[in-house]
Order: sequence, then C-alpha cells, then structure tokens
Amino acid sequence: MSLDLTGRVRPSLVGFEPYDPAFTPCDVNLSANENTHELPAAVRAAIERALLSTPLNRYPDPLANELRDALAERHGLERSNVIVGNGGDEILFNLLFAFGGPGRTVLTCPPDFAEYANFGAMCEADLRFVPRSEVDFSIDEDALLAAAQDAALVILTSPNNPTGGLVPRSLVERLLTETDALVLVDEAYVEFAPEGASMVDMLAGHPRLMILRTLSKAFALAGVRCGYLLADAAVVNELSAIRQIYSLDVLAQATALAAIREREHLRPVIEDIVAERRRLSLLLGNIAGLEQWPSEANFILVRVPHASTVRQRLRDERSILVRDLSAAPGLADCLRISVGTRRENDLLVDALTALVGKETR
Ligand SMILES: *Cc1c(COP(=O)(O)O)cnc(C)c1O
Repeated sequence: MSLDLTGRVRPSLVGFEPYDPAFTPCDVNLSANENTHELPAAVRAAIERALLSTPLNRYPDPLANELRDALAERHGLERSNVIVGNGGDEILFNLLFAFGGPGRTVLTCPPDFAEYANFGAMCEADLRFVPRSEVDFSIDEDALLAAAQDAALVILTSPNNPTGGLVPRSLVERLLTETDALVLVDEAYVEFAPEGASMVDMLAGHPRLMILRTLSKAFALAGVRCGYLLADAAVVNELSAIRQIYSLDVLAQATALAAIREREHLRPVIEDIVAERRRLSLLLGNIAGLEQWPSEANFILVRVPHASTVRQRLRDERSILVRDLSAAPGLADCLRISVGTRRENDLLVDALTALVGKETR
C-alpha cells in the first residue's frame, strides 16, 4: 500500500499537481512561446567558449554578481537593483513567498500567467482577481485601482500572456501614486514590443515598482533557466536573503553572461519574429471563423470553433503543437500560437486553414 499523506501535507499545498506543459514531440512546436529560430553563430560561439572554460568543481557565485553587473549595465541600473533566479518562475515564487502570505492581498488580472495564482495559493496569499474584458482583454482601471487599495502586491503582465496586449504606462503610474501596493510588471515578452514599451525607466523614482525579465523568450534560452528582477535595492536585499542559495548553476551563469554580452546579434532574430508575427496575423485573418487579438509578443491568441479538437488534430495529423487554453476562464475555444520561423508559420497556416470550419466535435 502506498503512503497516505492526507493530513501530513501542509493544507495550502493539498491538491497541487506537477506542472504539465502538455508536451508531445512534434515537428513544429509552437506551444511554449520559445524562440524557435537558430541561435546566431556569434552568440552560440560565445556561449560555447564560456561553457568550456567554466570549472564545474566549485560552487557558483550565489548572487551571480558578474551577471548582475552585465544586466545592470544593459538597463542603466546598479548591481544592487538586480537579482537573478532559476527562470523568472523562481523569482515569481520568491516574490509571493516574501510579500504574499496569509492576510496579504495579491491582485492579478486574468486571463494571465497561471503561475501567479499557483504560487500565490502555495504561499497562502489572499488572491484576488480583477478579470480583463472578455471582448478585448483590457483592464478595468477603476476596478483595479479600487481593489488595489488594500493590496500588498499587484501583478501586471506587459505584454500579457496569453492575450498579447500591453499594460498602459499610465495605469502603472496610477497604481504607484494612488495605492501603497508593491507593483510587479512582468515583461517576459517586452523585447517583441515596440521601442519604449518597457517600464524600466520608471524604476527611478518609484521604489515600489518591480520589473521581471527572462532569457527564456527573446534570448532563446528557455532551457537554461535564467530570469531576473529589476527593483529597488531593498527589494533585492529581501529576495537575496530568502532565495535558494545556488539556484543558478555555473553553466547557467556562464551561458547567460555570454548571451547578454552578445545581445546585439540577437536583434535581427527578434526583428524577424516581429515581422513574422505581422505576416502570420495577416494570414490567420484569411481563415473564416477564426478570431484573433492584436499581439505585441511572440505569440497570437486565436479563437476557433471546437478549439480542443482542432489542437488535437493539428498535433496528430500535422505534427504541429499549439497551446489549448480553452479551459481557462474567459478563454473558451482559445488557442495560443507561438510565432515560429517562416516555414513553421506557413505549415501552421496551411494546417489551420484545412482544419478550421471543417471540424465537428
Ligand atoms: C515565460 C514567462 C515567464 C518566465 O519564464 P521563465 O522561463 O521561468 O523565465 C514569466 N512570466 C510570463 C508571463 C511568462 O510567459
């Protein structure tokens, strides 16, 4: 008989399941918003050199100071304003661990990144939601401002995953001046948004503002697990004190540092993904019965009749993987399609054109 842990597991953790990315090996994987382009040769070469010269017998620098310095320089900040984590996910967890917890209100605007609610619940935060418009996924600013009056932490995602839109700067400004909450702006996809979309420049003069970034999306390093937070030094100190000491291993630190230093070579890749997003969106517009929302990220949210069946047939008949979000509140019949290479996008459009509308449950 297997061990029965009922009554032993901390009550707030009962019922959680291991994360399932619903991954099936496919020829074309557009399901996880990864960068599917080949890494530019200069970046790959720099990473290989860095990895080959990294000793594996020594513990990592716990705070990854060399990497922090490079990131600080990228954003015109100081080392004391940067903390790195094992993916943005670790930082999100640590933020909720530190600033959530029993009796602390954490506010989000779903549909958004599912981890906010998961980590919030694990950390026993008092989670509250101000759902986005079901029509255009905009945020009801007055409702959010009202709800944020007694909030410990407000989390906004810009561009938002999975809906693709930006959060208005003026809304963040209002949250910072009209409430006493900490405000996290998750900018995991901001490299794909127009110049000026990032709110990093607002950090100066707004100590309660925090900005999350990751190397998993534009930098094409999802497998390396490196994310970082830009914030006031007091926030960085607090998170430094509670983090898993060696969460970023030496190989991840070396890889991230090389990629940040060579980031100019990634610019054409990002420009191509943005151009492909525009082209993909135009092509999707030709499919009768498909609804889509404008995106500033490297994915497009669409609604099609019988979305779950369409997703399954894409996978089984065409070996194309996309994300089925149709079970999430506000996202009935919605699929999230990452923008791939030109070839991948063409394959997807061909397949969707054949499947949408010719589908029965
Ligand atoms: C992908 C993503 C992250 C961070 O991902 P990591 O791979 O853990 O760095 C954070 N926020 C959003 C909204 C994301 O989509």
